[in-house]
Amino acid sequence: MKIALIAHDRKKKTMILLATAYKQILAQNELFATGTTGKKVMAATGLSIHCFNSGPYGGDQQIGALVSEDQMDLIIFLRDPLEAQPHEPDINALIRLADVHEIPIATNISTAEVLLRGLQAGMFDYRRWSHKNPTI
Ligand code: PGA
Repeated sequence: MKIALIAHDRKKKTMILLATAYKQILAQNELFATGTTGKKVMAATGLSIHCFNSGPYGGDQQIGALVSEDQMDLIIFLRDPLEAQPHEPDINALIRLADVHEIPIATNISTAEVLLRGLQAGMFDYRRWSHKNPTI
């Protein structure tokens, strides 16, 4: 499964705590992240993560491109709802694309934990074959 991790600046510590707590689950998957989030999570956990550009420099759009090709299976996007972001259009576009392609997406840690536990329980196994059979 391909999992994307994105955290706005004031949510990066939360992302590190989450990735540390769920490291064993995350390690069994292919991980992607926006630049700064990925580097910080890798440094804190030792997980292997493919890092895209930093969010404001196009990282969200790079992840969105994979979503649009049905190449992303789960997104954890710890967004900061209390601070305006310079790349708000990119953020909205990514969330929209996740909904278009019906990709599980968590925008806060509570939902993220549910998704990761669901992942561990096999609840998203349908993703393993659904993109190979888009008409089903
Ligand atoms: P960052 O990007 O991981 O490079 O900080 C996240 C974002 O702001 O979308």
